[in-house]
Amino acid sequence: RDAKALLEVRDELKLSLAAVTVLRERYLLTDARGRPVESTGELLDRSATFVAQAEEDYRAGSSQRWASRFSALLRGLEFLPNSPTLMNAGTPIGLLSGCVVLPVEDSLRSIFSSLGHSALIHQAGGGTGYAFSHLRPRGDRIVSTGGTASGPLSFLRLYDHASEVIQQGGRRRGAGMAVLDVSHPDIREFLAAKANAPGELSHFNLSVGVSDAFLRAAESGGTQWLVNPRSGRKVARVPAAELLDAMCEAAHRSGDPGLLFLDTINRANPLPRLGRIEATNPCGEVPLLPYESCNLGSLNLARFATGGRVDWDRLGEAAELSVRFLDDVIDVSRYPFPELEQATKAGRKIGLGFMGLAELLASLGIPYDSDDAVRLAGRVASHVRRHAHAASERLARERGPYPAFERGARPRETARRHAQVTSVAPTGTISLIAGTTSGIEPMFAIAYVRTVLGRQLLETNPHFERLARDRGFYTDELAANIARTGGVRDNPNVPADVRAAYPTALEIAPYWHLRMQAAVQRHVDAAVSKTINLPAGATVGDVRSTFLAAWRAKVKGITVYRYGSKEDQVLTLAEPA
Ligand code: UDP
Repeated sequence: RDAKALLEVRDELKLSLAAVTVLRERYLLTDARGRPVESTGELLDRSATFVAQAEEDYRAGSSQRWASRFSALLRGLEFLPNSPTLMNAGTPIGLLSGCVVLPVEDSLRSIFSSLGHSALIHQAGGGTGYAFSHLRPRGDRIVSTGGTASGPLSFLRLYDHASEVIQQGGRRRGAGMAVLDVSHPDIREFLAAKANAPGELSHFNLSVGVSDAFLRAAESGGTQWLVNPRSGRKVARVPAAELLDAMCEAAHRSGDPGLLFLDTINRANPLPRLGRIEATNPCGEVPLLPYESCNLGSLNLARFATGGRVDWDRLGEAAELSVRFLDDVIDVSRYPFPELEQATKAGRKIGLGFMGLAELLASLGIPYDSDDAVRLAGRVASHVRRHAHAASERLARERGPYPAFERGARPRETARRHAQVTSVAPTGTISLIAGTTSGIEPMFAIAYVRTVLGRQLLETNPHFERLARDRGFYTDELAANIARTGGVRDNPNVPADVRAAYPTALEIAPYWHLRMQAAVQRHVDAAVSKTINLPAGATVGDVRSTFLAAWRAKVKGITVYRYGSKEDQVLTLAEPA
């Protein structure tokens, strides 16, 4: 039956089986009997046409011309917007943004108002981030009732359960990010919440908001005060190194928490006069103020390599067109509650980024774990940003700068249409649709088992397979071997230059993962989504040195993942080494 359903999908773009499976089950519009009523190309046209309607407000009669330019960009798989834009454009669910941050103030009204709002965002397939740092700690006083407070963790569990319930009727998992400041009295409970209870809070990523002062104290034997956010009273003083160790142990065990470097983030806050940033979206790539949303979109770098080099001119042009697309998305998106629309339209933050970096590097024969790769990635990020900023400045001249520009931006800031222009998203689904590697991540494996919507699909990297056939070293035995071990680095049957150019995430040392993240972050306005892969045998000390190195490298956040430390890993090796 499934095979028959897939055959019904008209796929003029020649997408992979995994891509068609995802599109069929979640993205294509269907009739009352669940049969698709559009082809994969028509899905992209639907987004392009809907988004281009915004052009009418600036110049009547111009939308058709832009719709066809946007369609060509999308159909060429040179750029794809975040999933909600693909799923929801032109449908009754009008929210097109991938990410939102909502406030959680220390009152039942605020907690339940944001819980209600988050349901509407998850229904549209968007992710939500929150700082729980303002909630009074567990056991604190409640004046109005004379009772005692249940604390941030109790509300976080409630939010998690709501996500679970919404997901059952929705199209995808509404991901969440919960941030707790390191100074919160319930910080230890927060650290234990996922690490000591596998399966708990499965809809949330956890991050500890840390300051420079805390990390300096952790390095130098200093202390950290725990402060009740309601009263401002200091309740305990703990050795900072001990707290950091507790974070590292939890991250070592379960991948959570990550760290958010709040001082680094706020030094780059484009709207400091509107408030301090305390949270990001679920995967960490966009720090936002409460009620702001951000539309993401990613250039597919693999499509910009021609004849063994990067086509910089074409990449720059595509970046400029993509910025215009994302600007239009803000206008045509329908916001389910007024606060979201107001804050989003005040700063007009967008997140243009890229995917397919690892594929680009492999196609150029550059090992991901090399100085050349890090240099090229930095150059790509800076090139994309330069063109994205130029486009945003041009739009500001045509359409006006973002409305909060005068009152919110730093003095002497350049007038742009968007307070924040670039960001590097994980591109989990859109890279699958585009058939390339995700974000700036290395290849997970050359062949692996991917769990898509509960189904297991064996995938082999198509570029590697083509290369191996062209150069005559492809054998069935080789393919079977790769499917078992994942990589080719130590495989004597593969030529040395190919072994170097096709490293997999686990073969790449954490040092290179972090260097790549830092090199890209240097040229990105918002943040970069990246996981630092650690081998199964990594120690708590390895996590600690990665965390501290990340802080020194001035990235905005850090996430580690030790192979095998989560039960429901999305990508697995048939037989891990
Ligand atoms: N996101 C979400 N649920 C998901 C995947 C993503 O809510 O299952 C949100 C989340 O805010 C994340 C953002 O979408 O940070 C971008 O993720 P990604 O680039 O992987 O999304 P894609 O557009 O590829 O689906």
